[in-house]
Amino acid sequence: MNNSSLSHRKEEPENGILYIVGTPIGNLNDISQRALNILKNVSLVACEDTRQTRKIMNKFNITNKLISFNQHNSSIKNPKIIKDLKEGKSIAIVSDAGMPGICDPGEDIANIIKSEGLDIICIPGACAALTALVSSGFPSSSFVFEGFLPRKEVDRSKILLEISKNEKTTIIYESPKRLKKLLKELFEFCGGEREIMVARELTKKFEEHVGNTINEVIEFFKNKNVMGEITIVLKGINKKEDLNVDKFSMKKDLNDLINAGLSLSAASKYLAKKNGVKKSEIYNLI
Ligand code: SAM
Repeated sequence: MNNSSLSHRKEEPENGILYIVGTPIGNLNDISQRALNILKNVSLVACEDTRQTRKIMNKFNITNKLISFNQHNSSIKNPKIIKDLKEGKSIAIVSDAGMPGICDPGEDIANIIKSEGLDIICIPGACAALTALVSSGFPSSSFVFEGFLPRKEVDRSKILLEISKNEKTTIIYESPKRLKKLLKELFEFCGGEREIMVARELTKKFEEHVGNTINEVIEFFKNKNVMGEITIVLKGINKKEDLNVDKFSMKKDLNDLINAGLSLSAASKYLAKKNGVKKSEIYNLI
């Protein structure tokens, strides 16, 4: 493999380069010319599922060698990839869709390659999180990406509580099967009036953006069998203007503390101090 067609560097390294290549999240035309060039010219393409990647390769008449590379076989494949790179072969890593490493294989290998002193170049491509964020119209210059929320109840509640108080826009990935459960939890933690956008099937034929509030979205999906890929964008709270949201979250905290065994007085005292408000304000929530 000749690195000169791929490298952006003036001095050619002896080792090959690991290219982390972003691919479309639905619409195959979203692949970049540079990504196609890399997929065509590297020594091999390591992909999450060869059947998925073959669809792109076939569409663009690329016949390069594909190997499977995923969370189940990466411990076996990593040494081989490192060996190939050290022999001067360049390799591309792709996931089934979007940016490798974003809730997809790619994160670990990038770390390992760096620790081996080898070079990585990322070829940017589509990412569902950013596509949904920008489509939402919510503040997007500073945001929190949560990926898939943890399944374990304790960890999940902790993150949901953080999200409920966050002033920044939050992006969450969720499977269609669990969307309704998550919407119910978001209602419990954030209240029904919080602004939200559920982005379904981004970049595909039946792309859909469902909003505007959690109440409305719950109502929209109530009697529907949810299908397709889902990304959720939740607007952050505006602490200065949105006193109701603050009150909602304080009331929830108060109930939690009382359920955990604290007296109303002790719980109110604690929350008043924590939120910088008078104890009587917390009492008035009940
Ligand atoms: N690496 C991908 C990326 O860069 O966006 C994410 C991979 S993760 C395993 C898959 C999740 O991304 C899906 O469950 C869904 O939450 C979100 N997603 C992927 N494609 C999407 C699409 N076309 N529309 C909405 N959400 C999508």
